[in-house]
Amino acid sequence: MTKQDKATVGFIGLGTMGREMVINLMKAGYAVHAYDVRREAVDDVATQGAVAAGSVAGAAANADIVITMLPDTPQVEEVVLGPGGLLAAPPPGRLVVDMSTIAPQAVRRMHEALKGVGVALLDAPVSGGPQGAKNAALSIMVGGDAAAFERAKPFFAAMGTTINHVGATGAGQTVKLCNQLICGINIQAICEALALGRASGVDLAQLRQVLLGGSAASWMLDKLGPAMIEGDVRAGFRIDLMFKDLRLVQELAQALFVPLPATALVTSQYVDARAHGEGGNGNQALFRVYDRMTGQGRP
Ligand code: NAD
Repeated sequence: MTKQDKATVGFIGLGTMGREMVINLMKAGYAVHAYDVRREAVDDVATQGAVAAGSVAGAAANADIVITMLPDTPQVEEVVLGPGGLLAAPPPGRLVVDMSTIAPQAVRRMHEALKGVGVALLDAPVSGGPQGAKNAALSIMVGGDAAAFERAKPFFAAMGTTINHVGATGAGQTVKLCNQLICGINIQAICEALALGRASGVDLAQLRQVLLGGSAASWMLDKLGPAMIEGDVRAGFRIDLMFKDLRLVQELAQALFVPLPATALVTSQYVDARAHGEGGNGNQALFRVYDRMTGQGRP
């Protein structure tokens, strides 16, 4: 084991993604001091070998690096800038990596604040979903200082297989938002194809299989297609989180005067899904919007 392997990671946010990332960091030999506002989530990773922390400062106290994996911008700002947060109690390793999907503008503000206390901040959002997190196969898009990226690389390697430094602070989030824009529009395209196929009476499982062999193939069709067809709406990546990501895409686009009409259209479908109580379901539940619009499928 190298010296780096024995480093201590403070990890904050132990939800769908964070839990699996913590387990993979421990598998790679790192000690993890873990914190979440949900005590049961902390207890759960403690049974897997993590050290339970009772606060953000507690998780950071001995950390060479602190990683956050939280829902949205306000939660990351609270953990970084809020009372008892990382600005007030910086980790001894002076490195913070936010792997949540949040606004690039907020990343730059937090970067400036942390720089004032000698702490480097990287934005390193991920793609690959809960399965990618579990299999340590995430794609990680990193923005920020090149030297900080080099320090964080071995930790990224414990959680992902595709690791790219894509530019200055905030660039990781920008690339991730481009990823989400494509994913959202792709999910809607699949819903439309399935709605049309269903109304025409073709077998949807076969339709999907055939499309996967041609130029319409996509990760979404492969991974979400079966659940869409079977009406299995159990969450992986929740409707609420994609809605949040599409909102972030639009906020960035508006600030830069870039029109994104297809993104606006998809967002309105997500508004419909949330209004019908689908927010906690997986993204495949977007197909239910088409069930309602066509009067076919499940109610
Ligand atoms: P999640 O809601 O399952 O987990 C977030 C965790 O953060 C929860 O356990 C929650 O209790 C905790 N938390 C909230 N506020 C906190 C605070 N102030 N202090 C400490 N803990 C707090 O979300 P997730 O699915 O794990 O996603 C996390 C991030 O990763 C999001 O930004 C999401 O957009 C992104 N992401 C998710 C997926 C996915 O498929 N689930 C894929 C790629 C990226």
